[in-house]
Amino acid sequence: MKLKELPRPSSTYIRVKCRDCGAEALIYSHVGSVVKCKVCGAVLAEPTGGKARILGEIVKEPSGAS
Ligand SMILES: [Zn+2]
Repeated sequence: MKLKELPRPSSTYIRVKCRDCGAEALIYSHVGSVVKCKVCGAVLAEPTGGKARILGEIVKEPSGAS
């Protein structure tokens, strides 16, 4: 069986867990503005001009590990 290899997009979504309340959020990897936790308001990601700086705990990075 052959697996089709998908082209990796330059931007993607990252699942981040809030360090304060444990809520999970799906964050765009290249956010244009600060992303806050919907539950407690803690900052989860900051824009840097390129890839977002993730301040929460990254639960799953979609980097294609088998
Ligand atoms: Zn929170």
